[in-house]
Amino acid sequence: MNDRKLYEQILGISTPWHVEEVELKLEVGQVLIRVEGSSTAEICPECGERRPRYDAIERRWRHLDTCQYQTILIAKVPRIKCDEHGVKQVRVPWSEERSRFTALFEALVIDWLRATENIAAVAKGMRLSWEEVAGIRSRAVGRGIKRRGRAALPASVGVDETSITRGHEYITVVNALSEARVLDVIDERKEESLNAFWSQYSSEELAHVETVAMDMWPPYIASTCKHLSMADEKIVFDKFHIMKHLGDAVDLVRRAENRQLRAAGDERLAKTRYWWLTHPERLEGEARARIDALRGGTLRTARAFRYKEHASQLWGYIRRGMAERLWRQWLHGALRCALEPIRVVARMIRSHWSGVINAATSDITNAMSESVNSHIQRIKKRACGFRSRTRFREAILFHLGGLDLYPVFPSSIHTKA
Ligand SMILES: [Zn+2]
Repeated sequence: MNDRKLYEQILGISTPWHVEEVELKLEVGQVLIRVEGSSTAEICPECGERRPRYDAIERRWRHLDTCQYQTILIAKVPRIKCDEHGVKQVRVPWSEERSRFTALFEALVIDWLRATENIAAVAKGMRLSWEEVAGIRSRAVGRGIKRRGRAALPASVGVDETSITRGHEYITVVNALSEARVLDVIDERKEESLNAFWSQYSSEELAHVETVAMDMWPPYIASTCKHLSMADEKIVFDKFHIMKHLGDAVDLVRRAENRQLRAAGDERLAKTRYWWLTHPERLEGEARARIDALRGGTLRTARAFRYKEHASQLWGYIRRGMAERLWRQWLHGALRCALEPIRVVARMIRSHWSGVINAATSDITNAMSESVNSHIQRIKKRACGFRSRTRFREAILFHLGGLDLYPVFPSSIHTKA
């Protein structure tokens, strides 16, 4: 077998294409493979008919390295003139339109990106520029979304916001809760953001949605109420977010009280922030003994903490009536207590009542949403933040969209539509 036949096999090149020449450029570490097509390659990419050649343009594609040598495919790609579709470049079986890489090379880059989650690392490892790797990822996501079409609506949807950088730029992330799969990423966290998601669907499709888990964010609530019938029964507020609001309330009480105590030389609450936010079981030794004593005591912080502890037990009910009764009891005390931050959260719970009770009686856990969110945070961290929403959206959909990202391989490219 000569080297041309060998490369034809390696590259999967078959009639009407053949390898014309293989040139080793050892001094620049490259293998150049010249490929030519016979006249039967002159097919209109739109209609699949043989058309007369118009001209030919030399193009280059980077392929998988041969040993440590960069392998470059070079071909004069004909353009044909179709009566119906005009002047078009014919499709080549080793690469997608407009890509400067062969399909196999792009597939390898996609594999590396999936494994490392870091464009810079892949660029360095594969001797590509940052923009080239970003371009491959961007095309992969575009192709995945085109194949998927509109995401099918699952029964349980999670809506979450996430910040792009440390600034105040946000995006809205919509998940399929049962699969930890991101369905869509939309600019901003406005009512219009979520409207843009819902309005893709018909009312029959929207009727399949049984649960929408979210934080108590008025624009998301408004959008969901506008698009889903009986939204009150479907909106489930994230119990982790509710508990976080209570945790923040405890901290507000502690800070104010600590200032007061320290002014009188009392250091009991100094440097205890973390203790109040941590589950007692996770603390040990002196910290555990001190916090146990404080938590059971008469400080305002301890009283706030007990409201939070009590609320943490009010989840996981089967019967709605039971959940409503026990949450009402909690509210009764919390709304009237002397701790303003606790009263604020209590009022918030009262005004979002059905969504809180839905959460207290739902077997929908937010574990999936949380795992999606922590994965998003990891992607953000690896990328050292994102300069643009487009890039952030692409990264999220690339890693968490469950999309078919890979380019089409030779055998399937020449099929007539
Ligand atoms: Zn045509």
